[in-house]
Amino acid sequence: MPRFAVQQHRASRLHFDLRLEVDGVARSWAVPRGPSLRTRDRRLAVPVDDHGLEHLSFEGRHAGADDAVIVWDAGQYEVQGERPAAAALAAGHLAVTLHGAKLRGGFALTRTGPRRWILTKMRDAFAEPERDVVAEQPRSVLTGRTLAEVDAGA
Ligand code: MN
Repeated sequence: MPRFAVQQHRASRLHFDLRLEVDGVARSWAVPRGPSLRTRDRRLAVPVDDHGLEHLSFEGRHAGADDAVIVWDAGQYEVQGERPAAAALAAGHLAVTLHGAKLRGGFALTRTGPRRWILTKMRDAFAEPERDVVAEQPRSVLTGRTLAEVDAGA
C-alpha cells in the first residue's frame, strides 16, 4: 500500500501538510486548519510542490530555515474506486481510505478551483462528530513531541 503523512509545520504561518505517495513522489497540499474527523467540516487544501518520499518521515527543523515540522500522523492508504490516484487527482476528485494512527477511514480531496481543493471526512464508522482531533491529539506519532517542543530544539 502507498504511504501518507500529515505533518504539522510552523513556517511563516502554522499549517498542516497532507502528503500522499503517488507514483514515487509525495503529492502535497497545505491544509491551514488541518484535517478533521467531522463530516461537516470542509478544510481548505492548497496544492504545493511534490516532495520526495523521504520527506514523509521528516521531523525537525530545516537547516537554515526558521521553521519546525512534526509528523502529526502517518500510515498507509488505499484509493477508493477504480481509477489510480494520479488519474483521480487529474480529474479533480480522489477518495481514499486512510490507515493512520489518528486518521482512519474515508477522506475525499475535491478540486474546487485552480489552486484550491477541499479535504473532507467521508461518512463511515471512523467519523467523529464531537471530536477536534487536531486539538486533542497534538503530538507527533513518531516521537511523541509537540511542535512547540521541536521548535524549541527538544
Ligand atoms: Mn508546509
